[in-house]
Amino acid sequence: MKVLVAVKRVVDYNVNVRAKTDGTGADIANVKMSMNPFDEVAVEEAVRLKEAGKVSEIVAVSMGVSACQDTIRTALAMGADRGILVESDTELQSLAVAKLLKALVDKEAPGLVLLGKQAIDDDSNQTAQMLAALLGWAQGTFISKLELGDGKATVIREVDGGLETDSLTMPTVISVDLRLNEPRFVKLPNIMKAKKKPLEVIKPDALGVDTSPRLVYSNYREPPARKAGIKVPDVATLVDKLKNEAKVI
Ligand code: AMP
Repeated sequence: MKVLVAVKRVVDYNVNVRAKTDGTGADIANVKMSMNPFDEVAVEEAVRLKEAGKVSEIVAVSMGVSACQDTIRTALAMGADRGILVESDTELQSLAVAKLLKALVDKEAPGLVLLGKQAIDDDSNQTAQMLAALLGWAQGTFISKLELGDGKATVIREVDGGLETDSLTMPTVISVDLRLNEPRFVKLPNIMKAKKKPLEVIKPDALGVDTSPRLVYSNYREPPARKAGIKVPDVATLVDKLKNEAKVI
């Protein structure tokens, strides 16, 4: 069975992002970019499934600027077999990405599509759900455990008050949570080997997908700066301040 894994290039999670002064978005010029952390978990899971003999091929796919090739190469170094970049210099919103993924699914016919539960740049948390709807496939979202059986995927999801177990008919779309696994450290020889793995670059037009943005960001600004805290000498003063100044107890 073939697995498609969606990997997004995002601002590295250690970077403190600033808003642009004109309020049109985040200023990401010259900041470190990395693979979305949830997508690393998705790649790791695909590689573990391959190591367990349940998957025959892993295709890492990314949509965006040419530099997304680096993100795909990271997935290849982790153990993916080949990569596809759908290259676009214009902004790709979730629906456009979901449509591009659907077109790739139609072409590649995977039995499973793995995605992160959300991209840490826009926190949209909707691409997997949109893709499943476009395909008419079963979906398992925010999963923290995955088992593949005969034509079925059994997933565990963390929900309010406990764990939910779902049985999904394959082929299926799954979005992963951080608790699913701990992604492996990529070793230098694997980075070298990844350079020789195939990476196809195509344009959205070749997939017949209209990627024009549907949403407009009207205002993007940073939250107000937090006021400095104070130190209190004892618990009695703390309780007094919480009661009479902050009025929270
Ligand atoms: P989102 O719905 O934007 O929070 O993203 C959820 C997941 O969809 C991500 O973790 C990725 O697996 C996938 N995804 C979203 N945008 C892209 C993209 N431009 N390229 C590849 N995968 C993406």
